[in-house]
Amino acid sequence: MKLDTWLSQRISTRKTAGLYRKLRTMNSAPLTEILIDGQKQIVFSSNNYLALANDPKVIHATEMCLRDFGVGSSGSRLTTGHTDWHQKLEEKIASFKQTEKALLFSSGYLANVGVLSSLPEKGDVILSDQLNHASIIDGCRLSKAKTVVYNHIDMIDLEGKLKESASYQRRFVVTDGVFSMDGTIAPLDQIISLAKRYDAYVIVDDAHATGVLGKNGRGTSEYYGIHPDVVIGTLSKAIGTEGGFVAGSHILIDFLINHARTFIFQTAMPPAICAASYAAFEIIEDSHTKRQQLFSNVKKIKARLKEMGHTVKGDLTPIIPVLIGDSKEAVLFSEKLLENGIYTPAIRPPTVPNGESRIRLTVTSDHSAKEIDYLLDCFQSIGKELNIIK
Ligand SMILES: *Cc1c(COP(=O)(O)O)cnc(C)c1O
Repeated sequence: MKLDTWLSQRISTRKTAGLYRKLRTMNSAPLTEILIDGQKQIVFSSNNYLALANDPKVIHATEMCLRDFGVGSSGSRLTTGHTDWHQKLEEKIASFKQTEKALLFSSGYLANVGVLSSLPEKGDVILSDQLNHASIIDGCRLSKAKTVVYNHIDMIDLEGKLKESASYQRRFVVTDGVFSMDGTIAPLDQIISLAKRYDAYVIVDDAHATGVLGKNGRGTSEYYGIHPDVVIGTLSKAIGTEGGFVAGSHILIDFLINHARTFIFQTAMPPAICAASYAAFEIIEDSHTKRQQLFSNVKKIKARLKEMGHTVKGDLTPIIPVLIGDSKEAVLFSEKLLENGIYTPAIRPPTVPNGESRIRLTVTSDHSAKEIDYLLDCFQSIGKELNIIK
């Protein structure tokens, strides 16, 4: 059989199951209202929570740095790729996260893979939340330690599994801070006290919490007032740029520089992206206004959707999953939203469990009251049309 024949059979299986994915082209900057495949759409699905990806100060910082440093970084951090801007940004991240040190990776994905494949060793066990991000799962697969999955935010299950794993040399608990498909906040206070009791280390992936949760937006650590052993994050969500990081002790960072393969064998991030990220952190540190606007938008949308009778999952975060159930119905809902000029893709298995397909709304600080009211009107009319609400 020809390769393409075999592959097209596999693709048709996906299509039949309502799981086919395709690309859509955005023809403008990451604003709330943009052109997608040439058609005007209001976007309720970006991770640009604080609208920093298109902030004039961030763009200016990028341009200034581009002039001095050029575009590419030209080498890995350990060869020719390490610049003043990498250093400055790492110091900024450490101070923002209130840790001794921080280390940049080219993405959050690579930060997770780098940590999980280097820190836990053969003879150790990683206890991983069932709904952890794909990059955590891939990191666990690359690790020589054993991985044991516990039920989503189920502390009784976690405690049972910590007890059962007493014979392992070391225990690591790894969790998303905010779960990307469910919008739940991990009970990190409880995870940390369990970890203390059973002598385990805690690794948190704060991709969706950085810039968002806590009084100053520092993330889940600030939200709960706790200090995990390892904090991982991305610059590609609320920070509005690109790249990932690990924050923790001086020794942890020194260890990763020497052992994390996704750090060692990767070209360094472009310096201009470091300068952009630095400017974005300064904006977050200087003002709470964007975060306050963001949460006021989140509260309004969640309350109104619930009033209409929609099943809304998750805690108070900018991720607002509206449960539809069947994959094809979720796709139909999302297509109808698109016809009405609202872009929010349906999320289906394998990203979420079978029967839990959903519309995953995300909101930003920049969405206007008018845009939000229009979104809510569409959820009401399409919900009724498809018999999802009464
Ligand atoms: C987005 C995300 C990542 C990946 O970050 P990138 O910088 O986009 O590679 C990792 N973990 C979680 C929980 C995420 O949501």
